[in-house]
Amino acid sequence: MHLISKETDYCPICYGRMSKKYVDSKDRSRYLCDCYYCGRFISSEKIDFLDSNSGYDIDEVASFLFYHGDKGYCDKEQLNPKVYSFDGGMISNEEIYDDLGLSKETRFSCIPVNDKTIKNWMPKSFSEKMDKVLLFLEKETPSFGYRLNYSENEIMSLFFLKRHEVIHGSYKEPMSIESLVSQTDFFVKCMTEEKYVDIEVGLAEKWEEHWCSLFYPTMDVTRMRKFTISLMPAGYKRIDTVEKENISNRDVFIAMAFKDTEKLRKCIKEGIEMAGYIPILIDEVEHNNLILPEILYNIRHSLFVVAELTHKNAGAYLEEGYALGYGKQVIQLCKESELKGLHFDISQKNTVVWNNEEEIPEKLCKRIKATME
Ligand SMILES: [Zn+2]
Repeated sequence: MHLISKETDYCPICYGRMSKKYVDSKDRSRYLCDCYYCGRFISSEKIDFLDSNSGYDIDEVASFLFYHGDKGYCDKEQLNPKVYSFDGGMISNEEIYDDLGLSKETRFSCIPVNDKTIKNWMPKSFSEKMDKVLLFLEKETPSFGYRLNYSENEIMSLFFLKRHEVIHGSYKEPMSIESLVSQTDFFVKCMTEEKYVDIEVGLAEKWEEHWCSLFYPTMDVTRMRKFTISLMPAGYKRIDTVEKENISNRDVFIAMAFKDTEKLRKCIKEGIEMAGYIPILIDEVEHNNLILPEILYNIRHSLFVVAELTHKNAGAYLEEGYALGYGKQVIQLCKESELKGLHFDISQKNTVVWNNEEEIPEKLCKRIKATME
């Protein structure tokens, strides 16, 4: 049986081109999307992103995936490609590996994501959005003066544009092309007037026009544009200020042992999300270069750190030490039965003690609020 759908599909989030694979031989409603713009994600026909009652805002999902997704088709050989899972499920069917021509060593790392994850991550104000764009551009820029290219579709996700509006009750429909163009132009104007970036607007590639004519059949496709963006000195200066003063930063780095701790990590993430922050687990951020610089970068850029010390993991100790050296708040977690064995230097510190994992979300949420607010 072939699991790969042969017909060309369009992404349920951004309407871009994608390939679709069924991931469950029993449940044919579950599928893996491999979108050129959003990266990879598992969804289900049961989730209707256009329905406000689903808990999701389709435009926020588009931005979230654009900022986090691993771009490039997964037919390509890649170790541990990153996959966001909206139904909480994993890829259960081994056949998919054969169908995709992937080796057995390749394993999709499924990262559960829900409406709360996305709501917490979404920048709230216009200036927060501009800051998030700048931080993203900096990460994408390999050297000063580098020019990044984005299509009209990518720019809508990058700038957090509203592409849909509620028309019938809770059901959303695409906005008019005029509204999208004026939103884009407004963002471009604000970013360039602040002298944060230099943006050149040109004409889109032919295949982009093709995509757009499917999304907006009535649109004059010759109006499709492409955007070439480079960061300017004022942009770098703003990035420095944002990072130094932790402006609207809600990232929380989690230092812990990763092996056989699925339930524990799920509960810690839940506690952090309940408190309104964004949990960062290094193996969910960076799959292919699990290296120290990436860990240190994420600790340095987080607002505070949660360290789970039950397993006396050397890496977690090191990460806590690094965070303290950087003047970050560290909230420790430890199972009561393991408390006695903690290293003397940190056993003195205020620690959230737990007996079973289910207690963690509420206890941790309370401690975070007491410490940070
Ligand atoms: Zn997409």
